Amino acid sequence: MYKRVVLKLSGEALAAGRGFGVDVIRVHEVAAEIAEVSRMGVEVAIVVGGGNFFRGVAEQAKEMDRVSADNMGMLATVINALAVQDAIEKQGLHCRVMSAIEMNQVCEPYIRRRAVRHLEKGRVVIFAAGTGNPYFSTDTAASLRAMEIRADVLLKATKVEGIYDADPVITKDAVKFEEITYMEILRLGLKVMDATAVSLCKDNNLPMIIFNMNESGNIRRVISGEKVGSLVTA
Ligand code: UDP
Repeated sequence: MYKRVVLKLSGEALAAGRGFGVDVIRVHEVAAEIAEVSRMGVEVAIVVGGGNFFRGVAEQAKEMDRVSADNMGMLATVINALAVQDAIEKQGLHCRVMSAIEMNQVCEPYIRRRAVRHLEKGRVVIFAAGTGNPYFSTDTAASLRAMEIRADVLLKATKVEGIYDADPVITKDAVKFEEITYMEILRLGLKVMDATAVSLCKDNNLPMIIFNMNESGNIRRVISGEKVGSLVTA
């Protein structure tokens, strides 16, 4: 069983079927699963995406200055973080949002040692605003934070069972990898996450599990060490 984990939730995972905005019912379901593992004694840190509101690289932003568009994307992650925090608190847990962009009226700034202290006290920590820099993704933020807080594993929640040799939604006979290395992901050009995030995990030996979040109970299964999803190693 893992002791300290970073869970990456994409914005899409919080929007449920609607694709846009926050689906409060879905957020509560996710929070209930997170509360379950937190009560088991696992230290849980979450990195939230913002794609359900805005992405710097989106079609709608292509005429925009990239830095402005990315800043909008990072602010979108803060909205998601607050929604998840509220739902986790409704589960009776303590939860802190820490933003890479300071906004002290809304949440705490990201301070590594303070984040670790929250985790040690059993609080769920949500990292918002990505890395705080444009031209990065929240996947990269998740790898970075996992390394900084010395997490045992990075858990990336998706809507498919794991990593496949082709998009399983389009290709019916796509084959799932039970285990794969970061090098193979880069070599095969698999769109698991962006190359910056992959390289960071690879260079620092951070294991990652990609799993299906739409299957209820999967967060507990993954953290308990059950064979769920695809394991990525350096
Ligand atoms: N973003 C950024 N720097 C970061 C993390 C995110 O500029 O360190 C911006 C970027 O525009 C990105 C958006 O925030 O498109 C939302 O993040 P992401 O696309 O990773 O969210 P997800 O796909 O996980 O919902």
